[in-house]
Amino acid sequence: MLAVHVLREAGPGTKVTLIGQGPFGRGVAYGTHNPDHLLNVRVANMSAFADDPSHFLRWLWMQDVPAYADIPPSGHAFVSRKTYGDYVVAVFEELCAGAGPAVTTVDAAAVQLHPGLRPSVTLADGRRLYFDRIALCVGNFPAGPPPGLSAAAQDSAHYVNDPWQWTMAGLAPEDDILILGSGLTMADTVQSLLGKGHQGQIRVISRRGLVPLRHEPARTYELKPPTGSLVEMLAAVRENVRVAVLGGYDWRHVFDALRPYTAALWQGLSVEDQARFLRHLRPYWDVHRHRLAPAVADAIADLRARGCLRIDAGRAVAIDRDGDGFIVDLALRDGSTSRIKPRWIINCTGAARDFRAIGDPLMQGALDRGVIRPDPLGLGIDVTAGNVVIGADGEVSENIVAIGPPTRGRFWEVIAVPDIRGACARVAKTLAAPLPAR
Ligand SMILES: Cc1cc2nc3c(=O)[nH]c(=O)nc-3n(C[C@H](O)[C@H](O)[C@H](O)COP(=O)(O)OP(=O)(O)OC[C@H]3O[C@@H](n4cnc5c(N)ncnc54)[C@H](O)[C@@H]3O)c2cc1C
Repeated sequence: MLAVHVLREAGPGTKVTLIGQGPFGRGVAYGTHNPDHLLNVRVANMSAFADDPSHFLRWLWMQDVPAYADIPPSGHAFVSRKTYGDYVVAVFEELCAGAGPAVTTVDAAAVQLHPGLRPSVTLADGRRLYFDRIALCVGNFPAGPPPGLSAAAQDSAHYVNDPWQWTMAGLAPEDDILILGSGLTMADTVQSLLGKGHQGQIRVISRRGLVPLRHEPARTYELKPPTGSLVEMLAAVRENVRVAVLGGYDWRHVFDALRPYTAALWQGLSVEDQARFLRHLRPYWDVHRHRLAPAVADAIADLRARGCLRIDAGRAVAIDRDGDGFIVDLALRDGSTSRIKPRWIINCTGAARDFRAIGDPLMQGALDRGVIRPDPLGLGIDVTAGNVVIGADGEVSENIVAIGPPTRGRFWEVIAVPDIRGACARVAKTLAAPLPAR
């Protein structure tokens, strides 16, 4: 997406190199081939270009797919994430085909980042490539193993730490499964299991047992943007919801209206208030903000109603191996405990939170050598409001930017497309600007 925006901004003579592994433009989110893995944002909000909101909708209409032709002009529809990957790739290829900057793709992992007047990266095969500017678009990293997991359990072929890499080989339809985490990754995993005709019990445990809420049709709500401290903002959002509901709106309309302000509101909070938000409000924010496509929410509700899926609030305090399966001790939020024996455990606790512990050579090395530093909340790496990385000595880099999930500490909401495309447009201007005279 950033490359797409750079291609629009940059003049002839500019060379753009994309370094990555796997199919370009898809990443974790849009690399899935499962048609049941739906976008959790409606078509209306998924255009690659904030200044052309119906771009994705028009692209869908142009495909030879009858279901897309039926999408209403409001764009209230949830298509598959694979389709979205196709869209991003199509937009990228169209821009590459036009006259303008030369684009090269390099299928390799970057393992070291070197700052300097001509910053460079070393690739896993030892090659070193030099650039005028570098953008870190490294995305999310998988979460580490949960506390309480024994080494023997972690070694089991039935323990899946990264659900995106799970092939389901060896899974029998009647196997009992424990899913750690009850967010969007859990919902995807359940969809994958349903697609395979799974019939065994699916048990889910997460700290609060909260599940992302269901999307409903959108409606524009005129929000009075909240101001002040976290407590004041919370009160203002609640008041907005109260007034909205009296006027026949839904709380969702207030949340949707908050979206354009979220990054600015976040940056207006003190670090203490940001930390307070993460401690107390984040789980509630997440399930209200990042909602489920109606078809997915309905499938999960149906499974729960039929007793095939059970979601509890609590923690798995000890997980040990027991033959082919596991013995798991659960401490539930209501104070009770229980012991279960699932045959599979899938870690759906989401992306790694702390960049100091991800163990990725590129990011870890850059952190160790002070080229980048963690943000004050430990959510990612520290960047300026213009996405430029800040080193361990507090110096702002001249030519290295970061965008997307690693910049969550600065912007908070910068993961989903409606937020990330704005950041891409902004950062593309920085990357495409003429080099300073030296
Ligand atoms: C499962 C899932 C579903 C989502 N669904 C939606 C949705 O429906 N709607 C929405 O708006 N948003 C959604 N999002 C959020 C959002 O779209 C993604 O967070 C976004 O795609 C992030 O893009 P990215 O390019 O920053 O990271 P990614 O897509 O993770 O891509 C990063 C890429 O960088 C590569 N990489 C990392 N390190 C290196 C290295 N050292 N060398 C070379 N390559 C490297 C990775 O292999 C990966 O291919 C979803 C996210 C996820 C994870």
